[in-house]
Amino acid sequence: MVDGVTAAPPPTISLGTHFARELADMALPWQAEEAPDPRLLVLNEPLAGELGLDPAWLRSADGLQLLVGAAVPDGAAPVAQAYAGHQFGGFVPRLGDGRALLLGELTGADGRLRDLHLKGSGRTPFARGGDGLAAIGPMLREYVVSEGMHALGVPTTRSLAVVATGRPVRRETVLPGAVLARVASSHLRVGSFQYARATGDVELLRKLADHAIARHHPAAAGAAAPYRALFEAVVAAQASLVARWMLVGFVHGVMNTDNMTISGETIDYGPCAFMDAYDPATVYSSIDAGGRYAYRNQPIVAEWNLARLAETLLPLLHEDQEQAVALAVESLGMFRPLYDAAWSAGMRTKLGLPAGLDDAVAGPLVDELLAQLQQSHVDMTSFFRTLGRAARGDVEPARNLFLDIVAFDGWLERWRALAPDGDAMDRVNPVYIPRNHLVEEALTAATGGDLAPLERLLAALAAPFEERPGLERHAAPAPQDFGAYRTFCGT
Ligand code: AMP
Ligand code: MG
Repeated sequence: MVDGVTAAPPPTISLGTHFARELADMALPWQAEEAPDPRLLVLNEPLAGELGLDPAWLRSADGLQLLVGAAVPDGAAPVAQAYAGHQFGGFVPRLGDGRALLLGELTGADGRLRDLHLKGSGRTPFARGGDGLAAIGPMLREYVVSEGMHALGVPTTRSLAVVATGRPVRRETVLPGAVLARVASSHLRVGSFQYARATGDVELLRKLADHAIARHHPAAAGAAAPYRALFEAVVAAQASLVARWMLVGFVHGVMNTDNMTISGETIDYGPCAFMDAYDPATVYSSIDAGGRYAYRNQPIVAEWNLARLAETLLPLLHEDQEQAVALAVESLGMFRPLYDAAWSAGMRTKLGLPAGLDDAVAGPLVDELLAQLQQSHVDMTSFFRTLGRAARGDVEPARNLFLDIVAFDGWLERWRALAPDGDAMDRVNPVYIPRNHLVEEALTAATGGDLAPLERLLAALAAPFEERPGLERHAAPAPQDFGAYRTFCGT
């Protein structure tokens, strides 16, 4: 509501109802809570353009009404999506969008559907004990990190806007509330399949699988065994995705099955963070006391989650349960080789080494480097960028990062003998990532009303491989006094 008048969005915006109609058993018609005083904090103009949405209109009072879900175009049918999920290993049969809504699907210029989704838009019947709301900080955090990931070339949901609602949100303290408008190739999760399977309705499961094939893996439709092909496509997409995370040092933090997509996009940025000093045991999330979702466990957890997906698909794989299990196990077996290949190829590129290099040479070289990075507590992102300079002959900045310089010199000599390509390295090793201390600084300032640090950070992250003067602070590791970093679930 603006001045007591609810204005309709312009008729050119059309939101599809494919999910709402095709999967009505998993879609609860719902509407957003009103925002007393909507105020735009950040708008992703390039993304708006890609989606055919006019940025100037989105900034208007009517545009904000769409971005908080208060006014939707005629024919739209917002829904809360039902899903289940394994949370830290324990199965929860009914999770669903407790504070989120699927507004509908936008059709891009390429004809593909993309979900327009809100987070923080009020309680739904899936809210359980939650208030359905979100504070400015966590919503901006998702905006910053997802857009940073996108610029790094990692598949991810995108962030279109964050709008402050004018409603206070009670957490440890009272915080200003916000709604994130998010765009994804879909919000189908492993947990969506777990929900469908748990209903016992095989036709619902089949409809969901057909919907997923059509939206994400259309080639599977023409395969001899389409549902098995769907599963293998998800295995391949996740193997590639998690390898990308590992190569940039991203720790998702809460890889529950409801937070793993069928599309292969990163989703649900809660207690995530980028690793600074290289250490495979790194955990940031305050609720992950056992380290289930530590950096080094991410590929193992992804494979575990995919096994849960396979279980849901068994009735579609074969009418004989035993044969269905055998097929699922065989397909899941693709995960490790695909992950290893993606990770090794990515690591060679980071090191500027030729793709054809013998595994017997590259493997031990990488293993030894990682051991040295860990022993010397070297900042992962700074190291790979500095190593690009070493490839061009300027070795001192890289050497200076190590405690055991003699050991590193030995490694450096072997690596340089392979004639690494420093310019190729600079194209894949970022200068700017969403560093924890800079993200915290930007969110704290924004919560207090100052958006300047957020805007500077977003500008740096938009071109992560291009070193620019004036952004030195954004390239540097956290100052010593930043201390050990802890993240909290984005609630
Ligand atoms: P997440 O940790 O964000 O992946 O959320 C896990 C589940 O908790 C999902 O079903 C969410 O919809 C729900 N949830 C998280 N925060 C809230 C909240 N403040 N109010 C209602 N539901 C929530
Ligand atoms: Mg989630």
